[in-house]
Amino acid sequence: MGQLTSICVYCGSSNLVNPDYLKLADALGQALAAAGIRLVYGGGGVGLMGACARAVHGAGGDVLGIIPRFLLQTERIYDEVPHEIVEDMHTRKQRMFDECDAFIVLPGGIGTLEEAVETLSWRRLGLHAKPMAFLDEDAFWAPFFQLTDHIIEGQFTPENFRDSLVHVHAPEAAIQALSDRVVQVGDERSR
Ligand code: AMP
Repeated sequence: MGQLTSICVYCGSSNLVNPDYLKLADALGQALAAAGIRLVYGGGGVGLMGACARAVHGAGGDVLGIIPRFLLQTERIYDEVPHEIVEDMHTRKQRMFDECDAFIVLPGGIGTLEEAVETLSWRRLGLHAKPMAFLDEDAFWAPFFQLTDHIIEGQFTPENFRDSLVHVHAPEAAIQALSDRVVQVGDERSR
């Protein structure tokens, strides 16, 4: 796996979603544990976040959860795994970033989108070279890729921006794509 030792997963916190999404989060957790890759995530026990973390832990893998104090109740911290309690959202996002080599974005809501887009914007600015894979089984993220194409067609962002993100449909494919990309960028783990 080269330098791919920890993957940060951004994903939805809602419990109300189609159970297929929770199953995908569970499958990703199992795949991470099988590959010996640590999960870094937002620390909650709800939605896809909880499903993924429980799956990693249940399969004997490593997890680091990072959660702001004010969300401890709302997002029901999953405290059976190592975790950090931080003071605000910015610190959470920075700590998640610092602790990982790459990112997987599962289906999610506004929070997931915000985390993914800010991390991509940091990459666009040359602040880091950590790759990102969007993972779904049902084209959930297709509209986001259409929007990205639209932005590139308008020449607001260069064509090579596509290299920083990939769209995959199975957990193993996500891990493989990120592994390939982390190897390609060599020692560039800088932010
Ligand atoms: P959602 O996709 O809306 O269910 O949110 C997924 C996760 O992203 C939740 O744990 C939110 O607390 C988290 N989140 C939302 N906005 C931010 C942010 N600005 N920085 C860090 N985490 C965030």
